[in-house]
Amino acid sequence: MAQVRLAGIGKTYPDGTSAVKGLDLDIADGEFLVLVGPSGCGKTTALRMVAGLEEITAGTLTIGERVVNRTPARDRDVAMVFQSYALYPHLSVRDNIGFGLQLRKLPKSEIKTRVEAAAATLGLTEHLDRRPRNLSGGQRQRVAMGRAIVRQPQAFLMDEPLSNLDAKLRVQMRAEISRIQRDLGVTTIYVTHDQVEAMTLGDRVAVMKKGVLQQVAPPQELYLRPANIFVAGFIGSPAMNLLQGRLVAEGGALRLELGGQTLAVPAALAAERPRLREYAGRDIAVGIRPEDMEDAALGGGDDGAVLASTTDLVEALGSELLVHFRLAAPPVVTEDTRELARDAGADDLDTAAPDSDVIAKFSPRSTTAPGSPVRVRVDTERLYFFDPVTGEAIW
Ligand code: ATP
Repeated sequence: MAQVRLAGIGKTYPDGTSAVKGLDLDIADGEFLVLVGPSGCGKTTALRMVAGLEEITAGTLTIGERVVNRTPARDRDVAMVFQSYALYPHLSVRDNIGFGLQLRKLPKSEIKTRVEAAAATLGLTEHLDRRPRNLSGGQRQRVAMGRAIVRQPQAFLMDEPLSNLDAKLRVQMRAEISRIQRDLGVTTIYVTHDQVEAMTLGDRVAVMKKGVLQQVAPPQELYLRPANIFVAGFIGSPAMNLLQGRLVAEGGALRLELGGQTLAVPAALAAERPRLREYAGRDIAVGIRPEDMEDAALGGGDDGAVLASTTDLVEALGSELLVHFRLAAPPVVTEDTRELARDAGADDLDTAAPDSDVIAKFSPRSTTAPGSPVRVRVDTERLYFFDPVTGEAIW
């Protein structure tokens, strides 16, 4: 096992596409690091450079103590698991798992021991003599994992290994991968575009956008202290609502004007973010997570934390309601929010929109209905603030 270090790693493809730019990542021995970001952000390219499948055009890659920029893939002692399992259809599960060891001409008895140990870890013992076509998708994925495990590599590199599985199996295999990685303690780099997968699996999560690392942090820190609008909007589901507001200082207190309505900024929140005061009298980008809002009709007073609107749409998910309503504050339009909209499959943002669609997660006890007035209580302790031009979080 080993630490993996990327220092200023870059990739420019022969056609001039700059897919990865100055990537710095220190992955500790035994750590599970997830690389996440929208399609085309360069995460697969980064992983393939670590694997030795793609030439590194800038920076230094170290695995363990060795600089491996020019080391061929087979000599890097890393094992890659792909989204297409790349199993040999004519070989049994046993031979598929042991294939790499046979190539390396390990003694038969050792191959048998290692393959059977891996099969036991993966719950494949009963299936060792089957062919891949007689396995379920989840079992095939396990065989692919088994092939990586028996090699006892310094690191696992996984590229969207669960994306061919149905939703239920994906959740099951996600837990499995987490358990196996913990049991084996092998340094792992895992690529996905799925933020839920990233958050549940990673000891730390690295968020990329257009080839550039945006933030690397433990999942909860990404959620609570996103470095910028892109990370804030990418992590969380439904996504954080991002609105243009105006910060006003009144005596010692700050208040936030949002499309003609006002929220009081709690003193504790302002104290935690010393730079917030610099924005007094100016426009500011405000983030409100859906889960930080509730139907005010369910309780609480009118204490500078309530926004009034009309319910447009209610999506009942059983355990919660997703309530859509409009606020007169315009949406935030930056390069980050454009990229997020693209990733969500939306057309480009309407830069002239005078108001925003806001989504709140209400308790199922709420009886709000489309067309009826709604009062929305905002957990103002959990407001997020960003520079409206650079998109950087304000702390
Ligand atoms: P996805 O999730 O869609 O696979 P990704 O984040 O893994 O996306 P990459 O596959 O690493 O992204 O691609 C990053 C960028 O590099 C994209 O703009 C892509 O079009 C480009 N790219 C990838 N491979 C090549 C290549 N062989 N030649 C030129 N450009 C490439």
